[in-house]
Amino acid sequence: MVVIEGVNKHFGDLHVLQDINLTVGKGEVVVVLGPSGSGKSTLCRAINRLETIESGTISIDGKALPEEGKALAQLRADVGMVFQSFNLFSHKTIRENVTLGPIKVRKKSKAEASTQADALLERVGVSAQADKYPAQLSGGQQQRVAIARSLAMGPKVMLFDEPTSALDPEMVNEVLDVMVGLAKEGMTMIVVTHEMGFARKAADRVVFMADGQVVEVATPEEFFTAPKSARAKDFLGKIL
Ligand code: ATP
Ligand code: MG
Repeated sequence: MVVIEGVNKHFGDLHVLQDINLTVGKGEVVVVLGPSGSGKSTLCRAINRLETIESGTISIDGKALPEEGKALAQLRADVGMVFQSFNLFSHKTIRENVTLGPIKVRKKSKAEASTQADALLERVGVSAQADKYPAQLSGGQQQRVAIARSLAMGPKVMLFDEPTSALDPEMVNEVLDVMVGLAKEGMTMIVVTHEMGFARKAADRVVFMADGQVVEVATPEEFFTAPKSARAKDFLGKIL
């Protein structure tokens, strides 16, 4: 589904992505872990070309990442992305936030998009908020709307970059529960998170990054009980 081969990128002198190779199969859930500054967000952003890469290839569903133009817009529509900050459109209602992309990009009718939005809002547990504005919702509710908005585009893969880091602790689980549900339904997911409970529960594989490199790829069981590299042992020692 997502094939990353020999990807390199620098920010000035910093070699932020060093020869990254990673394949994520259809329906697979990959959790990316690693210390701050290891390149996790840059890798996520490279996957939908919010960052350029200097060498290597990234392909989604067999199609190489296009440079620009219509093909790039199409690719972005196939890759859902949920960030730490919810990034909802503040002057649009919750329902409008979810219908906008399907109407503009997927050319759905307003009625069709609206029916779909209501079903998605129900699924993420915020249907009662459909006519409100983002500022009237809690952080956890806003993040669930952001997930619904991504899903409305019918993405082939969903990227999550620390989706719960900006939330108050009591709201973390309501967002993680939605993500676990998605994982169980077979969504292909790449998730950067510090939530080890999610990694244990939902990940098929854990990818550990440090200093711009993929240092270790393992099942959650292997990674948490018997990490191989010194970097991973050190990382786990600090967070567990
Ligand atoms: P965190 O856990 O803190 O989110 P991360 O693993 O997501 O970290 P990245 O955000 O990918 O790390 O950043 C990797 C490195 O690249 C960091 O040293 C960061 O300072 C640097 N960096 C990121 N974006 C830029 C940029 N636009 N220009 C210059 N340097 C950048
Ligand atoms: Mg980051």
